[in-house]
Amino acid sequence: MSIKNTFTIWFGKLLVKVMKLLGKGAGNAPGLILWTLNKNCLKAFKVECPIIAVTGTNGKTSVTNYLSHIFASNKGKIITNTQGNNLDTGICSLLLANCDMKGRVKADYLVLETDESHVPVIYSQLKLETLVLLNFFRDQLDRNGEVETLILKVKKFLETFEGNVVLNADDPNVARLGKANPNNKNIFYFSVERYSGATDEPYEVGEGKFCPFCGTELVYDYYQYSHVGRFHCPKCHFGEDKPFTLIKNVDLSAPSFEADGETFKTAHNSIYYMYNLAAVYTASKLYDFDKATLHDTFEHFEVNNGRLETFNITGSELMVNLAKNPVGANMTLRVMNEQAGEKELLFVLNDNLADGHDVSWIWDINFSIFRDVTRVVTSGTRAYDIAIRIKCSGYDPDKIVVRPDLDDAMDELFKNTGRKFAIANYTAVQPTRAAIKRCKERREKNG
Ligand SMILES: [Zn+2]
Repeated sequence: MSIKNTFTIWFGKLLVKVMKLLGKGAGNAPGLILWTLNKNCLKAFKVECPIIAVTGTNGKTSVTNYLSHIFASNKGKIITNTQGNNLDTGICSLLLANCDMKGRVKADYLVLETDESHVPVIYSQLKLETLVLLNFFRDQLDRNGEVETLILKVKKFLETFEGNVVLNADDPNVARLGKANPNNKNIFYFSVERYSGATDEPYEVGEGKFCPFCGTELVYDYYQYSHVGRFHCPKCHFGEDKPFTLIKNVDLSAPSFEADGETFKTAHNSIYYMYNLAAVYTASKLYDFDKATLHDTFEHFEVNNGRLETFNITGSELMVNLAKNPVGANMTLRVMNEQAGEKELLFVLNDNLADGHDVSWIWDINFSIFRDVTRVVTSGTRAYDIAIRIKCSGYDPDKIVVRPDLDDAMDELFKNTGRKFAIANYTAVQPTRAAIKRCKERREKNG
């Protein structure tokens, strides 16, 4: 090990110790400091096990949690950032906390949720074995710039990458990356066959409708959600690759899906989740995980971090979903619509640094699809903005209640019983979960 690398690791380990002594926990600070001092610090770590990275706009955290659960099933040691610390500095902190004084990271697998824009810089320093790419949508424009810029960044990385690439064949923004390196034979597409809620016409405002290779308009057989669906280019035949995994017979009422001739029951009933599971299934297959583990995981495993998480409060069921972009929000509205009967919606919108101060993305959410929504409560630092947005969609303003304080919002929401849904953006999701738990305690105490 070079002197510089030795120093990097020693200094990093010292930072971890100092933070602990200060009672601050290690957290993200050691990685942040180390990264600021040395942008090549990840090279100082010695990782000998396979690294699996998960990236894409929506679903990264869930897929990373699922894969870690499966990869840990045969008593393997997994190092993972399941809490979504997915930037270069977060991954640096994670490795610092898990390495010895020589920088050796001992594990059977590293499963790393990785921010799309950080894929090239992190994996030019750490040897990646498998990259799982879920989807590309407009997200947090302040930080990432246009989605095309992001795709091109990942594409540039893939041009020289020879490891496994697991790709969503039904998202043209992702599928195109399968051709980034014509010499890479380890390209594994997954696709999901048409489900009952698919449409012939696009359901929402979407991106990626033109062929990235020849500019011809893509022809869709159907849209599953947003711009995700079965497509092909009539001119250059982009989109006609045979998938490695084909998910069939998606049944949201069971809920279940079929893969390689077997039916898998699932814990969640949205098409959005079926795509996440298709990615999990494909990556697990590359590592030969047994079917029994997959059955058990898909049916029972819960991520419980505000991703389609369900709470029960005094006779009411509330489903919470994180949405940091129009596609995520539209997806939740769609899950809501697919449930028969009356329901109420809570929308919590913050505009903190990590959310991006620009909340204009809420204007791309399709609220006109509301079905049997009897009341909307809005909360968060931008509670009024989201209320105005919903009002402008034509929804009856008398049914909108604005409660910027989250505890007030919960009391309002649970004034009556029934089915409820909550959408919260990035920095709102954990406070929302905490407020739900506080509300539950208050109500149980008051009997
Ligand atoms: Zn084409």
